[in-house]
Amino acid sequence: MAERIRVRTREREELVDITPQVREAVRARGVADGVVHLWALHTTCALTVNEGADPDVARDVVHTLRRLVPREGDYRHGEGNSDSHVKTSLFGPGLTLLVEDGDLLLGTWQRVFLAEWDGPRTREVAVLVRG
Ligand code: ZN
Repeated sequence: MAERIRVRTREREELVDITPQVREAVRARGVADGVVHLWALHTTCALTVNEGADPDVARDVVHTLRRLVPREGDYRHGEGNSDSHVKTSLFGPGLTLLVEDGDLLLGTWQRVFLAEWDGPRTREVAVLVRG
């Protein structure tokens, strides 16, 4: 069974670095080499990998998505959060990452982010590690 990572977001739109939680889940599994599948259990938040060294990158991603998919538009969905659903589809709900030497394999600048598009909320990400 996949375990769950819980993420409390603070803004309507933000990128939250979940690398420490993912890394901890991978290390706890004791798999030397394999994959880790991540799946966001929601329709208005997504997962992505991008630079975590400079926080302005996450800020720029959020601001650019806001410009590409405005909150107000020719939407029909009655809940009033169609922009959140569209932004989520642009990134997608899932990631598959590599596990090497018992640890999450990421490039020097890469971090794993939960992209919140309709917060603040508590989010759940399913994590499945396989050797
Ligand atoms: Zn909705």
